[in-house]
Amino acid sequence: MHDVRQKAQALQEQLVQWRRALHATPELGFDTPVTERFLVEELKKMGVEDIRHGNGKRGIVALIKGKNPEKVLGIRADYDALNMTEDTGLPFAATNGNMHACGHDAHAAMLLGTAKILMDCRDELPWTVKLIFQPSEENGKGAPAMIEDGVFENPAMDVVVGLHIGNLWKGFKPGEAGYRFGALMAAADWFKIVFEGKGGHGATPHLTVDPLAMACQVVGLLQQIVSRETSPLDSAVVTVGTIQGGTMPNIIAPSCTIGGTVRCLSPEVRKHLETRIREICTDTARALRGSVAIEYTYGPPPLINDKGITEELKAVMEEIVGAENVREVEEPTMGGEDMAFFQEKVPGSFFFLPANFEDAGRNFPHHHPKFDLNEDVFWIGPAVMARFALSRG
Ligand SMILES: [Zn+2]
Ligand SMILES: [Zn+2]
Repeated sequence: MHDVRQKAQALQEQLVQWRRALHATPELGFDTPVTERFLVEELKKMGVEDIRHGNGKRGIVALIKGKNPEKVLGIRADYDALNMTEDTGLPFAATNGNMHACGHDAHAAMLLGTAKILMDCRDELPWTVKLIFQPSEENGKGAPAMIEDGVFENPAMDVVVGLHIGNLWKGFKPGEAGYRFGALMAAADWFKIVFEGKGGHGATPHLTVDPLAMACQVVGLLQQIVSRETSPLDSAVVTVGTIQGGTMPNIIAPSCTIGGTVRCLSPEVRKHLETRIREICTDTARALRGSVAIEYTYGPPPLINDKGITEELKAVMEEIVGAENVREVEEPTMGGEDMAFFQEKVPGSFFFLPANFEDAGRNFPHHHPKFDLNEDVFWIGPAVMARFALSRG
């Protein structure tokens, strides 16, 4: 049997090189031509034959054929960056006004590493592996676009796995790995609500219909959905982040707009939150003689890890980094992750690869201009992914 751990460790330097090359050329959303060309070139160098890219399709899908063509494992990595100016001072820092401040550069490098190991171990590969390189994760549009473009077809996928690197969860040390059964990340939906009234003079409110009064009532009432209608054992957040209306203290504005985000960890709670937000806005506007227009946008669903797949992935993680270094992620985050769209379709699991530094002064949150990764842990990602692929029955 191939020694995947050793193969991955031997790739460590190459993984760092790939990551630094990607880090220096960060691109946004679906506008990622340089990154895509780089990834496709590297896959070709390894001899991966079936690379699907371009022709109006989003992202890159590459196949490595296994002995059983009926069964397919998807391994997904995102590769988009953020629109922000890097301030790490690293020699390979980006200078184009975008930045890999979430670790997606490492995700793509590690999936290249996984491809390299699997190409070396092809003779033992049981299932076909579909390598999925996904753009546009940060705005949650990449995964749905790839699904619409048929990423689950030709051939159909049975299981999908992925990982996030960085310091999303506290209390982990580099060299460890984190798993979690069930919900790991939240559904992240958005709303924009426009209250319409009738403008007029601030001294004669009785001749107007005041949309600011409607908005203020609604901002308060929306908090009741979490505090009075959601089980204390379920997690939910309703945040109103913007409120815009009015131009002068003595004018009653004709309209007022609020905007916000809604987070939760289960499909049932998600449905309830949306229904009640719509009802509260509509009924409050009507009660106060106005009207309302509601724009409700779905982001990623909650990311739910399948029990069986997570069990298998955990066993592989223990084999790679030792059982003492594999720990449960104690709490899900209320952040969203569009991998959830893939895991909504087929059973899957998403794990956490801590890449913080022992020197705490070097650790910054994701999306921070000084965010950086401890590169020493890179080999663990491809080792776990490749071993998981090779252990499919
Ligand atoms: Zn991010
Ligand atoms: Zn991310």
